[in-house]
Amino acid sequence: MDLLEYQGKQLFAKHGLAVSPGKAVATVADAASAANELGYPVVVKAQVLIGGRGKAGGVKLADDEEQVRDHAQNILGMDIRGHIVRTLWIEHASDIAAEYYASIVLDRAAKKPLVIFSIEGGVEIEQVAQESPQKLVRRHVDALEGLSKREALEIATQGRAEDDVIEGVADALVALYEVWTEEDAMLTEINPLIVTPGRDVKALDAKVTLDDNALYRHPENQGLSDIQNEDPIERRAKEEGVQYVALDGDIGILGNGAGLVMSTLDVVAQAGGSPANFLDAGGGSDAEKIKQAVDLILANDAVKAVLFNIFGGITRCDEVARGLIAAFEEIRPAVPFVVRLDGTNDAEGRRLLQEAALPNVHGARTMNEAAAMVVALAAGQNIGVRA
Ligand code: GDP
Ligand code: MN
Repeated sequence: MDLLEYQGKQLFAKHGLAVSPGKAVATVADAASAANELGYPVVVKAQVLIGGRGKAGGVKLADDEEQVRDHAQNILGMDIRGHIVRTLWIEHASDIAAEYYASIVLDRAAKKPLVIFSIEGGVEIEQVAQESPQKLVRRHVDALEGLSKREALEIATQGRAEDDVIEGVADALVALYEVWTEEDAMLTEINPLIVTPGRDVKALDAKVTLDDNALYRHPENQGLSDIQNEDPIERRAKEEGVQYVALDGDIGILGNGAGLVMSTLDVVAQAGGSPANFLDAGGGSDAEKIKQAVDLILANDAVKAVLFNIFGGITRCDEVARGLIAAFEEIRPAVPFVVRLDGTNDAEGRRLLQEAALPNVHGARTMNEAAAMVVALAAGQNIGVRA
């Protein structure tokens, strides 16, 4: 789960990392009163789950209430590469002497947390990595030992932080590591980590990704998801405990098992189709489970046809077919379905489907055949076959 900047900053503050005081607001009037409370100058910042807000015009300094109102008016509703701004973070503005970069990511290959630090902050770190990799310090942390102050001091020194802020940078790194471990984050990034003219070290931006699988350990973080911007069907699926991902095409994809679902997306794309979503039904074969899955898939109005791809292993195809028949008798879907049953008891499953002669349900034998059929159906072509 990705957090908005201001939510990340709240976690930073909780672990003793310096941030500026601020307030999250959703209207121009609230932006103005927040700014009056905080004292000028302030920064008006778009809260969206994407970086590069500054470049897009979503971060503006304001010296008085009139400017705050202007900026808030302009930024609210702004579309930053597909993300609509609904929340602003109003923060007391900082004076900047230097912009550094600090992050902690999980290095899956090394199976260790990786601290990255650079005094070339404020720009995209990928650019620094490419153009001046020597200005980037990368250091793995022993997860059992944690990041010691001594190591943090070494990182700051090696990265050539200015002498009088090495201590401050090291403290920030240790605090950032504490956020990473104690909040079960997968990414904590500060860009820029600034040095003020008074030589304080402070996080001016925050990018935090929490590990969804560890959220149960942090009930206080569970409400942090960006509900306004979350796809409503994805949210519903999450609540129902179903693996569902929204995409932007017009073909619904249902399969059992993550690998099968992924390759189904591939064959549909190969056949010229564009998936609207996909759902992993797991090992579920009972009618109730299937009905729930079909309901979710069809909740998206863009879906013009659905591909139900089942490979029977432990789950038997005849059981799936029975579940499908029971589910369809209740749902009576208006859009065509292509069902491919393969694996354990597939012949029996196909026979059951054929016998049931469900309207709008077409059988396919292979994945490629199923993909071609569903693409044709989504395009409104009559394929003239039936399970
Ligand atoms: P991003 O563009 O999405 O990464 O948003 P940031 O929060 O990093 O803000 C973009 C840039 O705005 C920063 O790199 C700073 O240069 C500038 N900025 C943000 N906050 C302040 C502030 O308090 N004072 C000043 N002077 N500049 C700021
Ligand atoms: Mn930034």
